[in-house]
Amino acid sequence: MKNDLPYGNGEKVLLHICCAPDATYPVFYLRGRHYEVTGFFYNPNIYPEEEYKRRFSDVSRFAVRVKLPLIGGEYNPEKWFSLTKGYENEPEGARRCYICYRERLEVTARLAKDSGFDFFTTTLSISPRKNTRWIFEIGEELENTYGVRFLKADFKKRNGFKSSVILSRYYEMYRQDYCGCIFSRHNQKSE
Ligand code: SF4
Repeated sequence: MKNDLPYGNGEKVLLHICCAPDATYPVFYLRGRHYEVTGFFYNPNIYPEEEYKRRFSDVSRFAVRVKLPLIGGEYNPEKWFSLTKGYENEPEGARRCYICYRERLEVTARLAKDSGFDFFTTTLSISPRKNTRWIFEIGEELENTYGVRFLKADFKKRNGFKSSVILSRYYEMYRQDYCGCIFSRHNQKSE
């Protein structure tokens, strides 16, 4: 089918996971395409820490239910705030988001390389609110820098986003109402 990934042959994929609902469809889809998936939760953008813990806890619960190996990344919001300094007032979808995607993808690429994965990719592409062109551009850049292949998966295709909504209801997941950072939280609250 158009937009499908080529079938794998048991290659190991490190899947960056931004939250539990967004992880559902990508995990099943990649497994269905014969990739061996490991999740990696690395999201220093999430504010406040209680929200970070809540999202990580839901991802962990899902991982146990579907027997997904899961790696928890470091929670280092200070680094994220220093990377995005000067871009606090940007709207969602602008430069701050590019930096935010890049940080999460770079740490994923580095871990994939150091741990012997064949590919890295991210659940971020499932969201219609995320810029997939940027995600692919960053993934390709990091592929060249770190020498580990980026799997160009646009998970929102093939009704991926709709499926993730249905699956997240089935697994009784927490669905947050803002993207993650303090700035997106304020915007949400003022809408
Ligand atoms: S709005 Fe979302 S993608 Fe953009 S900087 Fe905030 S957390 Fe990151």
